[in-house]
Amino acid sequence: KIKVENLSKVFSTDEVDTYALADVSLSILEGDYVSISGPSGCGKSTLLSILGLLDTPSAGQYWLDGIDVSQIGLSQSAEIRCEKIGFVFQQFNLIDELSVADNIALPLRYSRKKHSREETAARVADCLGKVGMQNRSGHKPNQLSGGQQQRIAIARALVAQPAVLLVDEPTGNLDSKNGDAIMDLLGQLNAGGTTICMVTHDPRYANFAHKQINLLDGKIQPGDPHHGAGRQGEAA
Ligand code: ATP
Ligand code: MG
Repeated sequence: KIKVENLSKVFSTDEVDTYALADVSLSILEGDYVSISGPSGCGKSTLLSILGLLDTPSAGQYWLDGIDVSQIGLSQSAEIRCEKIGFVFQQFNLIDELSVADNIALPLRYSRKKHSREETAARVADCLGKVGMQNRSGHKPNQLSGGQQQRIAIARALVAQPAVLLVDEPTGNLDSKNGDAIMDLLGQLNAGGTTICMVTHDPRYANFAHKQINLLDGKIQPGDPHHGAGRQGEAA
């Protein structure tokens, strides 16, 4: 589904060049549940933004569903992003003026494929069900709790049936009870076949994933279970 090789990202400002990512190679297969963790500033969000086609690498190769997207232009990447990527932001990024149902339908409106009103309604209802929010479709985001808003953001990320769900600190703005509930939801979605790549600084939550990637100063740490036999602590 996703394969990157020798990905690097340099941010240049007047004072300094920051090497946010250096020589990162990884792959995410169909059905995977991958976590990316590491200390603040190690490059987690930068990596997820590149995987989500929200930013371009300075060097390296990126194949998404077999398409070379390493250096494609902005308009083309926007189309591919709508069709293949579901992105969940730490700050939810729901649109306050739109109802829950209209928020969830947004990726279908921006997709190249046209979706009838009936199909859109059916997909929205299906995704509301997946995140357990069937009875909130007419609410506005500010009428929902933080945990509920995060569920709606996940439903919106799923509606276009993306190849992969990319999630940046899904629990960062939630208390531990709601955080645990969101982690349960992600686990259920993965069990149902959704491919997930999640950024978290919380080692407890990283353990929910089946492959764990640790970043330090923009580099994948050697000896990561990702390159080895599987789940941490399991025999090879
Ligand atoms: P956190 O856990 O705090 O969210 P992170 O691992 O997500 O951290 P990134 O946001 O990926 O870290 O940042 C990696 C490095 O790149 C940091 O040193 C940051 O200052 C730098 N950086 C990120 N975005 C930019 C930018 N647009 N311009 C310049 N430097 C940037
Ligand atoms: Mg970050």
